[in-house]
Amino acid sequence: MENSYDVIVLGGGAAGLTAGIYLSRAKVKTLILNEGMVGGQMVLTYEIANYPGIELTSGYQLSMTMKKQAESFGCDIKQNINISEVDLSGEIKKVVVGEKTYTSKAIIIASGGRSRNLGVQGEGTFKGRGISYCATCDGDFYTGQDIIVVGGGNSALEEAVSLTKYAKSVTIIHQFDHFQAFEHAIEVAKANEKISFIMKSSIDGFYGDEKVKYVNIKNLETEEVYKKEIDGVFIFIGYAANSDKFKNQVAINNYGEIISDNNMSTNTKGVFVAGDVREKKIRQITTAVSDGAIAAVNTIEYIQK
Ligand SMILES: Cc1cc2nc3c(=O)[nH]c(=O)nc-3n(C[C@H](O)[C@H](O)[C@H](O)COP(=O)(O)OP(=O)(O)OC[C@H]3O[C@@H](n4cnc5c(N)ncnc54)[C@H](O)[C@@H]3O)c2cc1C
Repeated sequence: MENSYDVIVLGGGAAGLTAGIYLSRAKVKTLILNEGMVGGQMVLTYEIANYPGIELTSGYQLSMTMKKQAESFGCDIKQNINISEVDLSGEIKKVVVGEKTYTSKAIIIASGGRSRNLGVQGEGTFKGRGISYCATCDGDFYTGQDIIVVGGGNSALEEAVSLTKYAKSVTIIHQFDHFQAFEHAIEVAKANEKISFIMKSSIDGFYGDEKVKYVNIKNLETEEVYKKEIDGVFIFIGYAANSDKFKNQVAINNYGEIISDNNMSTNTKGVFVAGDVREKKIRQITTAVSDGAIAAVNTIEYIQK
């Protein structure tokens, strides 16, 4: 019964690792299967300043500490694997990885999500070094500085306004001549003296050394490209939950997020969900950790029944 577990956690970010800690500490035989590197989005985060009890840490360090803690209680963790098939329908759940089929009595889906990228020159290099996808996480790092917000939906406009608490100036760059946000959000942004707008334009590339120093902005009407010096850029052009593998197996909303109740139960028996992949408003490490703990405790109750 080498490949048979009490619980399999799909995803080893903050939510999955927390679930792993709680489950293994309760002597529940647990396997975390993670398609990427353990830590998930935390690993992309250069500095974390809002995780309670730790004044400042790197996302990599926090990930490795959580991994070590889960393993210290006996949690099996396999990372950088490729899951080819998941069957959540029966009493016994099945997950296929290469030649192996892992089985369990319950599943916690903690596969997280990803911010949509612009996909232009330098974005990968400067992610977490002047490019951010999260105002709550990183706004404070740009106190008194000049920043750009990319996007034209509700998130972009609302986050731009929230960033004016810190930044000296916020320039919103949007590809169209109009916004796709609620009228109220547009009015609030337009009334804010710190916010200016560059419409019908997009960022063509990010440049700098240790951090972003300037961007190239392309006017999409005239095709003119020009340079703008900047301290930071926040990109809000959408978010995607990593739920593709679970379609038709659990209830998913129109945005691809998995629907759950307050106990992190999905509509499929024995399947729980935690973290950014779930339908919710606030996506932070603290909320992922909280979901992971709740999912684990309720999963234990489920398998004991
Ligand atoms: C650049 C950046 C900076 C941030 N800064 C902060 C911050 O300062 N403070 C803060 O609180 N929050 C911050 N956040 C948000 C925070 O990182 C996330 O909300 C949190 O880490 C989400 O954790 P998670 O476990 O739900 O998902 P994730 O971190 O996304 O982890 C999910 C894991 O599951 C894996 N996976 C995907 N699909 C599958 C599958 N089918 N099967 C198995 N595994 C799968 C992924 O590879 C990944 O490793 C930041 C996010 C980003 C992108």
